[in-house]
Amino acid sequence: MAQLGGMPILVLKEGTERRRGKDAQSGNIMAAKAVAEAVRTTLGPKGMDKMIVDSLGDVTITNDGATILKEMDIEHPAAKMMVEVAKTQDDEVGDGTTTAVVLAGALLKGVEELLNQDIHPTTISKGFRLAANKCYEILNEIATDISKDDKELLKKIALTSLTGKSAGMASEAISGLCVDAVLAVEENGSVDVDNINIEKKEGKEIEDSILVNGLVIDKEVVHTEMPKKVKDAKIALVDSSLEIEKTEMDAKIQITSPEQMQAFLDEEEKILKKMVDKIVSSGANVLFCQKGIDDLAQHYLAKNGILAVRRVKKSDMDKLSKATGAKIVSNIQEIASEDLGYAGLVEERKIGDDKMVFVEDCKNPKAVSLLLRGSTEHILDELERGANDALHVIAAVIEDTKIVCGGGATEIELSLRLKDYAPSVGGREQLAIEEFAKALEVIPRTLAENTGLDPIDALVELRKAHQEGKKTYGLDLDTGKAKDMVEAGVIEPLRIKTQAISSASEVATMIIRIDDVIASKKGGAEMPPGGGMPPGGGMPPGGGMGMY
Ligand code: ADP
Ligand code: MG
Repeated sequence: MAQLGGMPILVLKEGTERRRGKDAQSGNIMAAKAVAEAVRTTLGPKGMDKMIVDSLGDVTITNDGATILKEMDIEHPAAKMMVEVAKTQDDEVGDGTTTAVVLAGALLKGVEELLNQDIHPTTISKGFRLAANKCYEILNEIATDISKDDKELLKKIALTSLTGKSAGMASEAISGLCVDAVLAVEENGSVDVDNINIEKKEGKEIEDSILVNGLVIDKEVVHTEMPKKVKDAKIALVDSSLEIEKTEMDAKIQITSPEQMQAFLDEEEKILKKMVDKIVSSGANVLFCQKGIDDLAQHYLAKNGILAVRRVKKSDMDKLSKATGAKIVSNIQEIASEDLGYAGLVEERKIGDDKMVFVEDCKNPKAVSLLLRGSTEHILDELERGANDALHVIAAVIEDTKIVCGGGATEIELSLRLKDYAPSVGGREQLAIEEFAKALEVIPRTLAENTGLDPIDALVELRKAHQEGKKTYGLDLDTGKAKDMVEAGVIEPLRIKTQAISSASEVATMIIRIDDVIASKKGGAEMPPGGGMPPGGGMPPGGGMGMY
C-alpha cells in the first residue's frame, strides 16, 4: 500500500488477499508438492491404485496419474499448475504422467533447499535450465534406435507402459493387440492414434479382447428378417429418422368413415415406402440411421434385403463416414449412389450377451478397432486407459524411433552425469544443477519404495552399476538388485523422458518465480494458513506472475 500524505491508497478491491515474498513462494511450493505426494504411491508396476469418488458418487479406480489428477477437485492455483504438467505429458506422449509430476515435486523440494541457502530464484531457474538442456543432450546420446519391424521390442515397450494398471495380469495379450493396431494405422512413419477406435464390452476375460480390421458398432440389426451378413456392403448413412414426422402443432384429424381411415393409413404407408424406395434405388444394401426406423419401414427394408441399424451414436456415424467414405445424408429424398460408402463385410455377431455390428475391410484401411473385454466396468475402464497409454507410447516410438531404458536406469544415468557436469558450470548455478541431479533419483527411489524395497540400498546398487559403465541397468523390482533393463524388457520411448524433464523443470521454475499472489475474495472464504487461496482464486493455471 502506497502512502500519499499519510493517507493509504488502496489499489486493490477490498477483501483481496495478498501474499508476498517467501510467504507466497513457500505456500505455492507446498501446494505443488502435495500434488506430487498424492500420486507418488501409484508409480511403477507395483504402485497402488486410487479410488476417487466424485461429487455425484461416481467411482473411478485407477493408477493413471493424469486420470487421478483430472478426477480430483484441485483448487489451489499452484497445485493446478502441476495438474497441467500431467495434462501436457498426457497430450504429448500419452504416458509418464506420474513420472512428470513426481519429478516436478522433487525439483520443488530441491528448490526449497536452495532458497534456504539464500540462492536467488533467478539463479535457480538458470541452473535448472542448464541442467535440463544437459539432460536432453545425454538422453540423445544414450537413446537407441528401434525399427518398426521389431515387433517383439515394440511389444515390450507396450508391456512396460501397461504394467501396473490393474489390467496388468493380462497385459501380454493387450500389448500385442496395441502393437498390431498402431502398425495397422501407421503411414510413412507417422501414426494418427485417432484412427484406432476403442470399444468396450463387459463379459469374458481380458484375453478375449480382439483387434477388428474396421469398426465395431454397439447396436444390433433392427429387424429379424434382415440379413445378418452383407458382403461388398454399399453403406448409406442417414441422420434423419425413417418415421412419419409428428406435427409440431396439435392437429386433429376427423375421420368419419372406415374408408377414410384406410386412406389415411395408406398415405402413411406410402410415405414410408417412398423413403425406403429412395434408399433401395441408391443401391445401398446396408443402412446406418442415427434416428429411429418405423416398424413398417423396417419391414420394407428387410424385404429389399437391406441390413439396417438404428439409433447409431453421432460419434459412430462420423467414424463410419471416415472409415467407409460414405456421406452422411439428412434428406432421404436426395440420397444417391455417390453418397454411399464401402466395406468388404458388414456382419452382426454375438459378443457376450449382446449383438454388435462389425464393419470390416473398409475403404479406409487405416480404420481399426480394439474391442476390449473384461468382467466389470471398472476393469474395462482401466483397461481402456492402459490401452490408450500403450497405443500412444508405441505411436511415439514409431514416430521418433528412439528408446531408453526404464526401471530408473535412465534417471540414474542422467543424475550421475549431471553431477559430473555441475562443477564445470561453477558459481551458484552449480548448486542448482546438483539439486536437479538429486531430484532425478526420485524415480528409482519411489519405484523401490512402492515395491517395499529399501530405497537407499536400491540407489546404492544402481549408482554402483552405472559408475561401472552399465548404462542400461535399472531396478529389478523382484530382487531389489540392479539388472539390465534391455534384458528385462523394460523399455520406454525417449519422448516420455524428454517431455517429463521439460514440463517438470518448467513448472518448477515457473512456481519459484512467483513472489506475489493476489487473490480476489470470493464468497467470503478465508485464506487458509500455509498459503492456500480461496476457492477459484483468480489465477489461471500456468499463469505465472514473475515480478522481477
Ligand atoms: P507413469 O504415469 O509415469 O507412466 P507408471 O505407474 O506407469 O507411471 O510407472 C512408470 C515407471 O515404472 C517407469 O519409470 C518405468 O520405467 C517403471 N517400470 C515399468 N515396468 C517396470 C518393471 N517391470 N521393472 C521396473 N520398473 C518398471
Ligand atoms: Mg505408465
